[in-house]
Amino acid sequence: MIPAARPLIGDEERAAVDRVMRSGMLAQGPEVAAFEQEFSALVDGRHCIAVNSGTSALHMSMLAVGIGAGDEVIVPSFSFAATANAVQLAGATAVFADIETDYFSLDPAAVEAAITPRTKAIMPVHLYGHPADLVALEEIAKRHGLLLIEDAAQAHAAAVNGKPVGTWSDAASFSFYPTKNMTSGEGGMVTTASDEVARQMRLLRNQGMEKRYANEIFGFNTRMTDIHAAIGRVQLTKLAGWTAKRQANAAFLSESIEGAITPPIAPWATHVFHQYTIRVVDHDRDRFAEELAARGVGSGVYYPTPIHRLPSFGLDLELPGTELAASQVLSLPIYPTLSDAELETIASAVNEVAKAGS
Ligand SMILES: *Cc1c(COP(=O)(O)O)cnc(C)c1O
Repeated sequence: MIPAARPLIGDEERAAVDRVMRSGMLAQGPEVAAFEQEFSALVDGRHCIAVNSGTSALHMSMLAVGIGAGDEVIVPSFSFAATANAVQLAGATAVFADIETDYFSLDPAAVEAAITPRTKAIMPVHLYGHPADLVALEEIAKRHGLLLIEDAAQAHAAAVNGKPVGTWSDAASFSFYPTKNMTSGEGGMVTTASDEVARQMRLLRNQGMEKRYANEIFGFNTRMTDIHAAIGRVQLTKLAGWTAKRQANAAFLSESIEGAITPPIAPWATHVFHQYTIRVVDHDRDRFAEELAARGVGSGVYYPTPIHRLPSFGLDLELPGTELAASQVLSLPIYPTLSDAELETIASAVNEVAKAGS
């Protein structure tokens, strides 16, 4: 079976963990500081603040930019629940706008239609590693005086017109969960150009303290450990090579697959293929996935239920693009360690199942 995802942990990661263990200093320290410094090269030297998960990064960035009770934040419903949960946990309200179904990101026209006097921010998600239309969204945010926040959890090193994600907004969040394009075990990073947002983030992750026992605000303990940072630093050195391999794998699959809609890349986009997601249009998607599994090809559905319909939200909204995507998407294996033979197997399995008319 070719699994849907495969985290890549090598001897260098193991050696890095061992180095930290031997140092005897495990909590946030020099490795975290170095990881932040090195990650900032991906975001044009912006401030980077490492935390213990992508979810913490999103939640804390809401608080750090001043989003709270009475505010609305426009988010897609076609994402991982953490996107909208971060808004709710900050005491604000997630307002769901529809997506376009080429790149599965917020539709700028739908965003504009969802703006109310309470809207404080727009939070696009760079789903599957394809950036949202940041040019259009930035223009809307500026015109309406709104904050722009990026959920870049799936999009390390993606870009719009060559300008990296994580540099377009007031605050952006990356995730280092094991199946993401790079991992630290668990972890997250907030990037921002604002000295003040960076300072708030550093306070929030550490009990509200800059000076020990002089707590200035109510804070969390959402620090990253030096063990996790050491893993992340090694993975960061491999990211560019892995991204190139993901892109090459995607190019091969898109040339080889027939009978399903392969993922288009916008002319302005650098797509880093966190997922390679086809749309299954004239078959039942779940049957299609079972038929692939019977041929040794794992796949995944991200995400089968739009966030607004999850029991936690329980909303009845009309979001046709979102519903269509949730019923059609299927993500195929795309990770950098796929062999040529495995890529051939994936493409021919998809073509066989598509032809069979399951
Ligand atoms: C993974 C992910 C998150 C959450 O990141 P964690 O590190 O798992 O907490 C948030 N948003 C999106 C779109 C994600 O894919």
